[in-house]
Amino acid sequence: MALRVAEEGLSSCSGCEVAILNLGERLLALAPQLDFVHMPLLMDHKYFGQLGDGDLKRLEIPQAELGLVSGGVRNQEHLEVLQAMRANCGTLVALGTCATHGGIPALINGLANAELMERYYRGCETNDPAPDPTETVPPFLERVYALDEKVKVDIYLPGCPPHPDHIAEAVLAFLEGREPALPHKSVCDACPTVRQGKGQLKSVRRFLQNAQYDPAKPIADMRCLLEQGLLCMGPVTRAGCSGADGEAPRCLKARVPCRGCYGPVRQNGNQMLDMLNALASNGIDIKTLPDRAGGLLRFSGAHGRLRPRPAAK
Ligand code: SF4
Ligand code: SF4
Ligand code: SF4
Repeated sequence: MALRVAEEGLSSCSGCEVAILNLGERLLALAPQLDFVHMPLLMDHKYFGQLGDGDLKRLEIPQAELGLVSGGVRNQEHLEVLQAMRANCGTLVALGTCATHGGIPALINGLANAELMERYYRGCETNDPAPDPTETVPPFLERVYALDEKVKVDIYLPGCPPHPDHIAEAVLAFLEGREPALPHKSVCDACPTVRQGKGQLKSVRRFLQNAQYDPAKPIADMRCLLEQGLLCMGPVTRAGCSGADGEAPRCLKARVPCRGCYGPVRQNGNQMLDMLNALASNGIDIKTLPDRAGGLLRFSGAHGRLRPRPAAK
């Protein structure tokens, strides 16, 4: 019998679902063994009954052996959908860094809800001031949560989005009844750049400044970007973006620094604290960092890591 799979996206950009489709021919090969019973992005399945007239009073998520959820938990509706997925799926996978660590949407955790509403509904010069929306938007929770702050998560698949190789591995491992083989090292461990020890620069350079390299030469001849004074999050970010083929990390291939999109190396690691240590041990003055929280917790602001600043006295 085919494995029943349910998939949901909460506070998500749908890129993780596109990554599932990016399995390409592997998805076709797996398809006879999978029965997608719920995936709103790709199939018509109504939450409150198929007649579309509210014939059910409770959210309906079909029973599935494997549940995949992308996106963090921002509002009451996300929470209800997540709880229904947990109740109806035997194994729950947090798909993508929004689900594992809050991702980009959790950057808003640097603002309290009241300040957020004030800034966007009354403080925006290009719009007429308006009251907070109440009727068409589900009530916000107090911040963006990663899935495991609200329900038990069985498998973590970070990445923005996760590489299709690792989505395929997670599904295949589940079908074969074994633990998925996923990367647990850092982006630096997968990076071939030249490391010579501490760089000469004492301050972080602006992100948009170009790295120094010879475009005619391979990446293995380029000096480590952190040693060049660029804020490369490789030391504190989980490897995986290059997939299973051992290529250089995605951003490094484009000769730009890692922004940290796979989240911390360990699931409960703290990218900001770890990176402050890495910068200090590289001889870089951490006071030169512009937007410390937004830069170092860009993808991992859930779990209470990114909080509103205390009001100035
Ligand atoms: S992890 Fe990235 S690709 Fe996936 S939903 Fe979040 S922002 Fe989109
Ligand atoms: S800090 Fe960046 S450039 Fe340097 S080794 Fe790590 S990933 Fe590569
Ligand atoms: S290099 Fe870093 S930011 Fe770029 S894709 Fe890989 S993990 Fe994400």
